[in-house]
Amino acid sequence: MASTVDHRVNLYSLDTAGLESLLAGWGEPAFRARQIHDWLYVQRAPDFDAMRNVPKALRERLKAETRMGVLELAAEQQSADGTVKRVFRLDDGQLIESVLMEYDDERRTACISTQAGCAMGCVFCATGQMGFARNLTAGEIFEQAIYFARELAARGERLSNVVFMGMGEPFHNYDASMEAVRRLMRDLELGARHITVSTVGLVPMIRRFADEGLQVKLAISLHAATDEERGALLPVNRRYPLRELIGACHEYVHKTGRRISFEWTLIEGQNDTPEQAHALGKLLRGLNCHVNAIPLNPTPGFGGGPSASKRADAFRQVLEGYGISMTVRVRRGIDINAGCGQLKSEVQKRERKALEDTLPEQAGDQFNGDLGGAVAGVENRVDLDDIE
Ligand code: SAH
Ligand code: SF4
Repeated sequence: MASTVDHRVNLYSLDTAGLESLLAGWGEPAFRARQIHDWLYVQRAPDFDAMRNVPKALRERLKAETRMGVLELAAEQQSADGTVKRVFRLDDGQLIESVLMEYDDERRTACISTQAGCAMGCVFCATGQMGFARNLTAGEIFEQAIYFARELAARGERLSNVVFMGMGEPFHNYDASMEAVRRLMRDLELGARHITVSTVGLVPMIRRFADEGLQVKLAISLHAATDEERGALLPVNRRYPLRELIGACHEYVHKTGRRISFEWTLIEGQNDTPEQAHALGKLLRGLNCHVNAIPLNPTPGFGGGPSASKRADAFRQVLEGYGISMTVRVRRGIDINAGCGQLKSEVQKRERKALEDTLPEQAGDQFNGDLGGAVAGVENRVDLDDIE
């Protein structure tokens, strides 16, 4: 459980030139690098043994001295609707979550994390309730997608979409998230339009994102249409109030010609009222956008519940009156805690319990909850003033 340092070379961290120099150092011909690169990214081989045209001796050396990624599977759950949720342990013991959603058509969508925990503290979000541990590297973000791509390839399917909607705030880890986006496009050959980045609304980063010249989709977590309501749910609203946020959205649409999606978690009796619907209609009127509503996934740290479908329908009708389209999405993986951060909390609880059980009784009495690096702490909140 406690992490030991793994000195094996992570093949996913090398580009073709890097692979060439590694293999040249082993006395291998240059074409081997291209061959292995093809196995990693095009064939998406599940392991070294699948690399059939690589000589056995070389496969053995690869097994001993390299690895295919740093993600270690810590827990897994499969929902009745086909949604698969994974908790991965990183090299330093941090746990992150990724979800694969399968639809009736060809769509296979990976939902990936950009941070271990999150500093934004949105009150209804299980990840927000844990606080922030650390940023993920671009490689750690990218590898979640290739993990699923590999699994799908083994059954003749292709990863078709990636959404940055797992744990963490992508724009609070901007450079690594953008590097991961570029690797998805370059290495997994995903079209930009098949990638969605979701942000809680860090205004300067929305502006920066507009300048990237990418066709990647942008989603903004809105959840409330007045500063008072939004500030109560999303502390970040106190730093970037609605006027600034919506202003940045207009700039984005103007600059990129792209439509924006707004995420709206429907909380019964709170943000699903006719007043909020009218306020939202007025706020978004004239903006090229679409609203994606999803009934709340209840979390232990928040008392609210999901809106009934009747209320969701009424909300949608009000919005339509303002010329704004809205879809109410089904909650996927509801039976397996697929709301972000929820399964990780379960794993942590289990590990805490297991560790406590192994402590001698007296030490157990003095046990103060500090598990060292075993389940690394995620208590911190970042001061909103520190966020760009
Ligand atoms: N940090 C980014 C991306 C990750 S969260 C963001 O906030 O946009 C992805 C989406 O899930 C966000 O719209 C978020 O508000 C929503 N979400 C978080 N907790 C939820 C819950 N318990 N039920 C329903 N949606 C939730
Ligand atoms: Fe972070 Fe997004 Fe959760 Fe808010 S909703 S705490 S920004 S992950």
